[in-house]
Amino acid sequence: MDALIRQHLDAPFDRVAREEFSQVTLGQLIQTLENLAAEQRQAFRVVHGWRRAHFPDLPLLPINRQLPHSAYQNLEQHLDGDATTLIYLFDNGVECFSLLGQLVDRPEVSVFQQRLPVGTRWSFDRAFQQELLASLEQSLHFRAIPLLGRPGNNGLEGRFHGHLIKFFEESLLETRQSLNLITGILRVQKTISRELDFERLLELIGDTLLETFHFQLGELELYDADEQRLIHQVTWSMEGQGQTLSKNLQILLDVEQEQALFAAGAPVVLDGLKQHAMVLNHKLVEILGLRFAILLPLFAGDEKVGLLKLYYGHPEVISPTRLAWLEELSTLMGSAILNAREHTRVFELATKDGLTSLHNRRYFEEQFNLELARTRRSGARLSLLMLDVDNFKNYNDRNGHLAGDDVLVQVARLVKQSIRSVDLIARYGGEEFIVLLTGADLGVGRAVAEKIRAAVADFEFPHGDRQPGGRLTVSIGVAEMKPTTRTLEDMIRRADAALYQAKEQGRNRVEASL
Ligand code: GH3
Ligand code: MG
Ligand code: MG
Repeated sequence: MDALIRQHLDAPFDRVAREEFSQVTLGQLIQTLENLAAEQRQAFRVVHGWRRAHFPDLPLLPINRQLPHSAYQNLEQHLDGDATTLIYLFDNGVECFSLLGQLVDRPEVSVFQQRLPVGTRWSFDRAFQQELLASLEQSLHFRAIPLLGRPGNNGLEGRFHGHLIKFFEESLLETRQSLNLITGILRVQKTISRELDFERLLELIGDTLLETFHFQLGELELYDADEQRLIHQVTWSMEGQGQTLSKNLQILLDVEQEQALFAAGAPVVLDGLKQHAMVLNHKLVEILGLRFAILLPLFAGDEKVGLLKLYYGHPEVISPTRLAWLEELSTLMGSAILNAREHTRVFELATKDGLTSLHNRRYFEEQFNLELARTRRSGARLSLLMLDVDNFKNYNDRNGHLAGDDVLVQVARLVKQSIRSVDLIARYGGEEFIVLLTGADLGVGRAVAEKIRAAVADFEFPHGDRQPGGRLTVSIGVAEMKPTTRTLEDMIRRADAALYQAKEQGRNRVEASL
């Protein structure tokens, strides 16, 4: 796409080109062209700045390349007949500018002690040439380059042209970089708008922003509409590409100023972070060597979504172009975040149990099938636990259904604490829970089940003493995957049978299906 835009940059946009450009939105294209123009204007500004600094009295007159000779003669009226005249033309292929002026009191420019007809090619005294070149190089930050003047023109004019051509080459390079930026942003747009998983989306945003905007530390705060404030969500670091840092590491900024900034809706660059009044923990800023930050409010339409903060350690000034692109991206990121948040919420509603926040049976079944296939391929072991609260009807009858609910929440918590995060737990039905232990044979399954049983039996449930046996307990059946195991039902049947035995043998027990 980069090549595509450049290829057509100078040519008129015919129908074919338009079709080729259909992948690029019109807004992006216009933006590119505007960037190009802005960069060129910036280039002119630098040149004019140089002129002002070194020749403050020099009038500057833009002239059109197509101006008739008489117009040049009009320009001559601006010149003092007795002064040395410098006319210096440069063009960038779009516009043609002329620095037109008088070098007064420069006796060293002896060659100019006479009036030159406008348009004449001329050459300067070598010493002055060198001085001028040196100041050019210094003020425009050019590298000295070989003469690139037009053929047959080896005076300073040629040099000037050479330098300016170089200068515009550099500005073209900038343009090329913004074109790369467009490509990057289109990629961000594609990936981000497709990602519906909230956590993954945040990681993706971190990665892609890092790739394109090269921050050292990034933070995202999301707006909580109920609490009406920004809440820190995630921190990305340059080192930890692809992963998020501790959720707690945070550059603290003054909350009120941050809110005001967020409400204003425009990106802001904070410079001189180490002393900046908005920064609250200067120490951290110093340790991390951060120098400036970009704060970018995220919106989806009119809806407030959050605040993105990108911190930089290097002294590079962030270009207006990049800032503009970032702003462009803010709506995109805002909508993607809202979408993913909503999708994840709906997904959780569909896959999670409202009371215990554990996954539900349907989700468990899906995951089990994936795990079963994986385990078969790797030849690893797999165990399943079926857990049932003992005499739960009694608990409900004596203490009420709500107290019963609390017990289920607490049992879920205890089970979760007794297993690894890779294990899968779900609420299977009323007071029954199911646990899938990956990589666990029957012995391990039995041990984990025993750990859970003990944890529940040791826990002081309210009114536990009113249960048979004086405490609230659970029974657990364990089954291991066998070479013949094909389905979840198969394993559940055996775990259930073991659970039945545990109940038969007095409850508060673990039994395994052999
Ligand atoms: P056992 O030791 O044989 O398992 O006896 P039990 O009383 O636990 O077994 P039973 O199947 O007779 O009773 C289960 C009770 O669990 C009945 C039902 O009202 C209750 N239950 C199921 N789901 C919920 C729930 O979400 N909340 C509450 N409070 N009770 C529930
Ligand atoms: Mg039951
Ligand atoms: Mg029961």
